[in-house]
Amino acid sequence: MANYRRSDAKLRFFAKVVKTDTCWLWTAHRGPTGYGRFKLPGRDSPVVQAHRWSYEHHLGPVPDGQVVMHTCDVRNCVNPAHLRIGTQGENLKDMRDKGRHVGNPQGVREWMRLNAPKLTYEVAEEIRGAYAKGGISQRELGDRYGISREHARDIIARKRWAAPPASSA
Ligand SMILES: [Zn+2]
Repeated sequence: MANYRRSDAKLRFFAKVVKTDTCWLWTAHRGPTGYGRFKLPGRDSPVVQAHRWSYEHHLGPVPDGQVVMHTCDVRNCVNPAHLRIGTQGENLKDMRDKGRHVGNPQGVREWMRLNAPKLTYEVAEEIRGAYAKGGISQRELGDRYGISREHARDIIARKRWAAPPASSA
């Protein structure tokens, strides 16, 4: 866990929040998907999702592999009363069902595909490395890299991107 004082984090957090009658709105930096981003105090501390930090601060740890979802559909809301635990699959489905993916009516996967790193041999090696380490499924890797599960499986099986491109030098 990051090395910072909990009270510092709390002060820093609430300095960026405006509480309305319903939602608590994150007013600082927001990532490309519209979620608030919170830099934990201290040099080298990570940037975390603001709503996730709020959930953990108020309600307790998020189980491994689970995500924090909004019941209010306001992505920069950090009110713990509007947050609940779900799986990433549920979250993606929820976002798709509600058609609220920022700037892209075609939904989450399309957005992820557009924003995924361009597939190269190096990226394929990264995918194989992540899978070999364990703890992540082919589908999750596919989602993370904006490709289908089948495509991820083929990369892992070295049916695709098996070798670096021939050097033109
Ligand atoms: Zn809310």
